[in-house]
Amino acid sequence: MEQALELALEYAHQQNAQKILRLKMRIGAMSGVVPEALEFAFDIVTRDTLAEGAILEIEEVPVVCYCPNCNIEFQPAYLFYECPQCGELSSEVRKGKEIELASLELSE
Ligand SMILES: [Zn+2]
Repeated sequence: MEQALELALEYAHQQNAQKILRLKMRIGAMSGVVPEALEFAFDIVTRDTLAEGAILEIEEVPVVCYCPNCNIEFQPAYLFYECPQCGELSSEVRKGKEIELASLELSE
């Protein structure tokens, strides 16, 4: 979270923005981040920064696994990364771990 915010602030500085109005983040279902907790933390870490008072939008990214046997990507059921075609457990998680900045809206 702090890392993403730092990136956002850095970008805002580069653009000579006065304020960050809106910040959108992509949060993977497996990232270990709880959106509600993130919203709470956001208010605290943005205090006295360009992002103070900004609107935080969270896009939740579902877990996507890959099965090398079938060469498909699939969304597993909760906690069991079982391929829907061959039943093998997938060890390759392709999406769902991200905590990243998706977009920013600045005011000049
Ligand atoms: Zn498979």
